[in-house]
Amino acid sequence: MKKKKVYERPLIKPIVATMPGKSGNNVSLPLVSEIDGHIPSSLLKKFGSPLFLFSESTLINNFKEAKNAFLNRYPNVCFAWSYKTNYLDAICKIFHEEGAWAEVVSGFEYKKALQNGVRGTNIIFNGPNKSEADLLLAIDNESLIHIDNLQELILLSHLAEKSNKNVNVAIRINLDAEISPAWSRFGFNLENGEAWRMVTKIIQEKRLNLKGLHCHIGTFILSLNAYKVQAKKMAALAEKIYNELHHSIAYLDLGGGFASKNTLKGSYLSGEDCSPSIGDYARVITDELKENSYIAKFTPLLLLETGRALVDDAGFLLTSVVANKRNPDGRLNTIVDAGVNILFTSFWYNHKISATESRSSHWEDSTLYGPLCMNIDVLRERVALPLLNKGDVLIIHNVGAYNVTQSMQFISYRPAVVLLDKNCNAKIIREADDFEYVTCKEHYEE
Ligand SMILES: *Cc1c(COP(=O)(O)O)cnc(C)c1O
Repeated sequence: MKKKKVYERPLIKPIVATMPGKSGNNVSLPLVSEIDGHIPSSLLKKFGSPLFLFSESTLINNFKEAKNAFLNRYPNVCFAWSYKTNYLDAICKIFHEEGAWAEVVSGFEYKKALQNGVRGTNIIFNGPNKSEADLLLAIDNESLIHIDNLQELILLSHLAEKSNKNVNVAIRINLDAEISPAWSRFGFNLENGEAWRMVTKIIQEKRLNLKGLHCHIGTFILSLNAYKVQAKKMAALAEKIYNELHHSIAYLDLGGGFASKNTLKGSYLSGEDCSPSIGDYARVITDELKENSYIAKFTPLLLLETGRALVDDAGFLLTSVVANKRNPDGRLNTIVDAGVNILFTSFWYNHKISATESRSSHWEDSTLYGPLCMNIDVLRERVALPLLNKGDVLIIHNVGAYNVTQSMQFISYRPAVVLLDKNCNAKIIREADDFEYVTCKEHYEE
């Protein structure tokens, strides 16, 4: 029997005279009623709202796609998972099981990598602030230490002498990759000769073995040319070290920075249309490396520290509608229960947002507000959605990178994180904060 249509009262909509986008006003996205076979509203009933979700199959597919894109073009490639992008153990372990090393930037992240079973020799230790204790731990575990500054070089050399150990190091290099702004605050500059001076200095150090060259040019880099320039300059440096200092580099680490499919604020085209694919990045990088005769002859290991491009589209944030209201000028406002404190990336992306079910044939542009008592708590300035009731569920897409690690406990509790695994189970991988957790570190005088 055909289901009877529900009566919906007529709606009078004010005409809002704003500039239409490329596809006109009111670009409505299709409803998304399930994620990996799970119904969003059922997940919220079980785990509470809001809720972060990760799709294991998407994580694995992304990793395999990236690995194959490079391996099909260059025989010696390895990925190191960037912990700060998302360091939930369950997520890291999925990448490690696929063969990823760990890339860490603090003692905390370093210990997480060890705890996740990564061999010390497969941990890359980056970052501008490594404490003496952190360095000693990394020396003990024979990790690859990427030197950022001269003070660190001096300290590391001293610690290596003292502990009677040889240490495998790389130097972090910054260079002009024809993009702006250039990230010149990390490591040593190539063009002004600083990087070369450091290379010659490290090679003279008895206890330090210059094993690699590292460069991370930035993040969400849409320019393929930037990687072409970076690969060319890094390969040329390795060749020069070989020719002039008779020293072979075991690996070139070209960092991360590949764009995900998110849409940057102010971007005319959507990220899905304008972000290069992993295959595009792989092609320009490997083509350029193979141009260099030293690289072509010795094929040193190519390391990549790709973060957001591997994890962003595997993460979803489910949120429930709290209320609808209208501004005095008639604009529709929708309040949801997820705020900018757990969705940090809403400050620079227009996240794709879809409704999960619809009782209405009417769609309207709405401003999506979070639950914080703060004027800046805006998830989307303007997004077309079917008319929603309190309790309806929305999916915020492409939230897998940097949100869980940067989410901030503020006003209320941070939500749970659930993994939708390969076998169609929904498993908690991080519990929601609660009163005890948030207050247990406080002290006060009686
Ligand atoms: C943050 C970071 C990465 C990962 O960057 P993405 O833009 O997420 O790919 C890789 N390497 C270093 C040194 C980083 O600081």
